[in-house]
Amino acid sequence: MIPVKAFATKGPDSPLAPFEFERRDLREHDVLVDILFSGVCHSDVHQARNEWGGSMYPMVPGHEIVGKVLKVGSKVTKFKEGDLAGVGVMVDSCRECKPCVSHMEQYCVEGMTGTYNGYERDKVTIAQGGYSTQIVTDERWVYHISDKLELSGVAPLLCAGITTYSPLKYANVQPGDKVAVAGLGGLGHMAVKFALAMDADVTVLSTSPSKKQDALDLGAHHFELSTDEETMKKLKDNFNVILDAISADHDYEKYLDLLDLNGKLLVVGLPKDNPKVNPFALIKNRRSIIGSMIGGTKETQEMLDFCAEKNITANVEVIKMQDINEAFERMIKNDVKYRFVIDMASLK
Ligand code: NAP
Ligand code: ZN
Ligand code: ZN
Repeated sequence: MIPVKAFATKGPDSPLAPFEFERRDLREHDVLVDILFSGVCHSDVHQARNEWGGSMYPMVPGHEIVGKVLKVGSKVTKFKEGDLAGVGVMVDSCRECKPCVSHMEQYCVEGMTGTYNGYERDKVTIAQGGYSTQIVTDERWVYHISDKLELSGVAPLLCAGITTYSPLKYANVQPGDKVAVAGLGGLGHMAVKFALAMDADVTVLSTSPSKKQDALDLGAHHFELSTDEETMKKLKDNFNVILDAISADHDYEKYLDLLDLNGKLLVVGLPKDNPKVNPFALIKNRRSIIGSMIGGTKETQEMLDFCAEKNITANVEVIKMQDINEAFERMIKNDVKYRFVIDMASLK
């Protein structure tokens, strides 16, 4: 077994604190990654605090992982020692069902194995995430990272990146399409970058007036305050696509009303409450709501290669592992520009 240092929480009301545990010895197809940077996703907060229910403790959160390969199993073909590598939100699946065979393992009929907060396939070991010094993962769920990109900014691509890239691709965004991004946080700011790379006309719909300049600096063509009733009236029947990356409870109908004919509301934000949707808001303009969960292994590598080609990374604030509790609080208060990333050297 491989001893690692980490930060874990013992329960929904406990802060994250130092924790030591062991990773499994390498199996034939496993890769041992020395973690250099780990992103902080709002899902880490939701799960650490049991906001979705069913959380398992002790929990080492973290599913935006980049690092260097330290060792590979005897049958690993994709990686060798010293390669840069990434691990995202899932680390295994049944590998046999239709979604798995088509590399959409996140929709595995048995349920994907999450990087943390769930059992591994043995149904005994609790998977532990990236707020740790090393991780052991089957190579199918490990990705190649270009050495051209700034590594701390790459970590968030493993969740925030793929979660916004995948639905924008699925919605078949075309040059000139009017795309709005609701919620300019970690996911939202990546959605802006991808929509711009797809040559869309991009609007940020935000509750934070202070983010206007940031949105424009990111390259968004327009910034609109979703809290302003007159603005929302003006924007009715306007967008082809709205990507909803909002982490808190909100009214879906408010955003549906802004969709033009055949418009799509892409829902990736996961607040804990179930919103009501009025069917009249849906039938108008033949609108649809499409949910989307991260992205499969093939698409994740495709997204990382796309980012290397277009020089896309996240805008990050690098923190020490010891500052994680403050980072959670700041994230809840909407005070992050635009992703916290933990420098794992602080734990070694
Ligand atoms: P984040 O960085 O905290 O950003 C969330 C944004 O939501 C904020 O920046 C804010 O944007 C907006 N917001 C917050 N409170 C709001 C309110 N009361 N009303 C309207 N807007 C509000 O979070 P994140 O890491 O990007 O994650 C966003 C959500 O996606 C989370 O729920 C997370 O669990 C989920 N997620 C889903 C998947 C998936 O596979 N579907 C994957 C990863 C994460 P403004 O200031 O611009 O309003
Ligand atoms: Zn995430
Ligand atoms: Zn499967």
